[in-house]
Amino acid sequence: EDTEAAYRERTPTSERIYGELVEDIPAGVASTYRAFEPYPMIIERAEGPYLYDVDGNRYLDFDLNNGAGMVGHSHPAVTDAIRDQLDHGTLFTHPHELLGEAAREIKKRWDVADLVRFTNSGTESTMHAIRVARAYSGRDKLLKIEGAYHGVHDYVLLSKAAPEHKLGHPKRPATYVESHGVPEAIEDTVEVAPWNDLEAVEEIMSENVNEIGALIVEPIVMNVGMTQPHAEFLQGLRELCDEYQVPYIFDEVKTGVKVAPGGAAEYYDVEPDLVTMAKSIGGNYPVGAFAGREEIMRGIEHGTAHYGTYNGSPLVLRAVTTVLRDVLTDDAYDHVNDLGERLVSGYEEIMADVGLNGHVEYVNSQGTVVFANERITNYRDFARHVDVDFHENYWFEMLDRGVLPHPHDASQQWSISVQHEREHIEDHLDAFAEVAPLLA
Ligand code: PLP
Repeated sequence: EDTEAAYRERTPTSERIYGELVEDIPAGVASTYRAFEPYPMIIERAEGPYLYDVDGNRYLDFDLNNGAGMVGHSHPAVTDAIRDQLDHGTLFTHPHELLGEAAREIKKRWDVADLVRFTNSGTESTMHAIRVARAYSGRDKLLKIEGAYHGVHDYVLLSKAAPEHKLGHPKRPATYVESHGVPEAIEDTVEVAPWNDLEAVEEIMSENVNEIGALIVEPIVMNVGMTQPHAEFLQGLRELCDEYQVPYIFDEVKTGVKVAPGGAAEYYDVEPDLVTMAKSIGGNYPVGAFAGREEIMRGIEHGTAHYGTYNGSPLVLRAVTTVLRDVLTDDAYDHVNDLGERLVSGYEEIMADVGLNGHVEYVNSQGTVVFANERITNYRDFARHVDVDFHENYWFEMLDRGVLPHPHDASQQWSISVQHEREHIEDHLDAFAEVAPLLA
């Protein structure tokens, strides 16, 4: 209550403008995840590691556009490239050399990327990757992981955040449709498996021989806190996919170019057949891509559809090439990973000092605090052990101290950009040192 009162006091202009926005825009936001109670703050501008709202509050930003901003806001090199491109045309629906330049940057990072196609979002990337996988395997069913998020098209809007009474058996999760308007028939084309349970996946595959046309995973489940794969789980899936001849898709929209230059495929040394990406490859410009083994991707030349007016626009590809070639260098990874390590150790020290239950889940520059002693190994653990109201209290208390620790949802994690410096990490930790005793 006090936290909400403090928030309202600091953000009267946001409250007024939000009241106007809901008159014209459902829930007053452009993506429903962004709405929260009592109302989201209205952002006026962003620069480097900071966001500024319309009431003049400054937030040290570890949300970074739901993880899309590894280069930080308005990175000078990206902005210069975009400015230059503005004078040379922003959209060509004819081929241009930047397509190859950007594709080659992706091929350098992912061994599996024999061929690359560009899209405008993560949703479009997973939609097309699933389509080319199904076309290649000649089978209709998609196998996805309980709790994982792959965007907002109908085939993946299932079993992201199912309520407890809809979960089904732990080894055979029910297919739970997450949105009105998704045809019921979709349920028959999707099977759902638990994360980190290879036996269960094997059982599902063996019961659906010659039916499963693709397996899609978030190689770290970044939409269930930050739930890492057990040792050998991703490789085990690789072997099952080989045995049952199922194309294996890594959805690296959140992990790609972040947990390692070549994403989770590099970090865990496991090779999928297809990889999807978006977010941080574009330095805050709207872009996605999917890439994979030549024999699968060549299907696009033989009747598998991938079209789009804005695909591969020169404007966003200038951003992609600048980000991947010039900004996210080896030094940049050392920088953000060092900062990530300091943030994690700082959180751990503070929690131990005040006797606050919990631990930090992290990989390199991304992480999240879990206010529970239990390790989270899958969606059901998360639903059982993570107290979202408690977590929300932490989030608002941090916001009150000028730190946006991650997107507004306990299922999300912090990101660190190349424009964050050690002082920003210390500011984040100073805020947490004030908040932790209030939570203990
Ligand atoms: N896949 C994953 C793993 C994501 O986290 C997201 C978005 O958060 C998407 C796909 C969808 O990407 P977009 O929001 O660009 O459509």
